[in-house]
Amino acid sequence: MTTRTVCLALDAQDPLAPLRARFDLPPGVIYLDGNSLGARPKTALARATEVIAREWGEGLIRSWNTAGWFDLPKRLGDRLAPLIGARAGEVVITDSTSLNLFKALAAALEMQADHPGAPRRVIVTERANFPTDIYMAQGLASWLARGYTVRLVDSVEELPGAIDADCAVVMLTHVNYRTGYQHDMAAVGSHVHAQGALMLWDLAHSAGAVPVDLNAADADLAVGCTYKYLNGGPGAPAFIWVPERHQASFHQPLSGWWSHAAPFAMAPAFAPADGIGRALCGTQPVVSLALVECGLEVFEETDMAAIRAKSLALTDLFIDLVEARCGEHPLGLVTPREHERRGSQVSFTHPHGYAVMAALIERGVIGDYREPAIMRFGFTPLYTSFADVWDAVEILRAVLDEQAYDIAASRGAVT
Ligand SMILES: *Cc1c(COP(=O)(O)O)cnc(C)c1O
Repeated sequence: MTTRTVCLALDAQDPLAPLRARFDLPPGVIYLDGNSLGARPKTALARATEVIAREWGEGLIRSWNTAGWFDLPKRLGDRLAPLIGARAGEVVITDSTSLNLFKALAAALEMQADHPGAPRRVIVTERANFPTDIYMAQGLASWLARGYTVRLVDSVEELPGAIDADCAVVMLTHVNYRTGYQHDMAAVGSHVHAQGALMLWDLAHSAGAVPVDLNAADADLAVGCTYKYLNGGPGAPAFIWVPERHQASFHQPLSGWWSHAAPFAMAPAFAPADGIGRALCGTQPVVSLALVECGLEVFEETDMAAIRAKSLALTDLFIDLVEARCGEHPLGLVTPREHERRGSQVSFTHPHGYAVMAALIERGVIGDYREPAIMRFGFTPLYTSFADVWDAVEILRAVLDEQAYDIAASRGAVT
């Protein structure tokens, strides 16, 4: 039987345990929401001070060159690349995930415009996708008019049948934000290619959470967040990946001066940069962008195989303990038990999910809530311990046994 002592022994053998000291977590908090906003790397405070006081304060405009500000999107993209199976020169950190989705979708539609055969004007995605992905696709399709549409599928089983000769691009989130379901990237991608469509992956809940190999999976385009598992800071710029083989044919409509071949030539005519630079748009939020490096540095002390092994051990333990110790309560596991299909989170439904989560947060166990009735617990192997899992389940058990939650509690703007 698992006990807290067993969990402490697992922590004592955990090769990733020392990395917890690289993060600043407040005392009395068990943080299970790194899937929404990663914890703060300790180095971020000194880095922010350096960027603000020295680079900005003393360097002033010179810092675009002397502090390397101008190259940051590419330099940090190269540092992120190994975590997602990308090569150097294929990733930039820039803009938001929503904006990068717009650029990637528009570029994919344009690549497909000269597709031999029937005009392909359908974007296929899942109704269960994160709403901004759907909204950005709908916005682009309706703005383009000319018959572009978004086709929503209701289940993974329906997906293959929805990818037909009209489909230009399939846009999927690799790990679902609500359920933690993980698509088989290579299998889905090869079906998409067999139908003549392009494959765009959203890695918001994958980058830094599960092993990803975009090039091995022969993916076409990808985007993702840096403020979730990559611990880049609130609202930190996102990333966009364009593989070498597509870069020459990648044309995105947000063609600002940073995507120009020679930005400081100040030419009135646009000419896209060679390579990944053409995925940029305009001036970046340098303070926020610089902090992304503090999150990425921590990953260089380990690798995704070690992170994945611990993530599965943590999520297995959480599922087992909740079922063993809270089994009489109406909790429903939404996340796949199968390892290959699971991301780095566990979601349970409860009829009073919002109120239970609010009570957990009150007691220092920070997860979050997603409609309908889903309590979401994210596990970040860099700073979550096995004892944290034990303690979180004991607090959940107490809240449920004591019915210590207020079902009439009012909700904040952000859940
Ligand atoms: C978190 C998340 C986003 C966030 O997009 P923003 O532009 O940063 O607000 C987008 N897509 C998915 C799948 C996400 O999980």
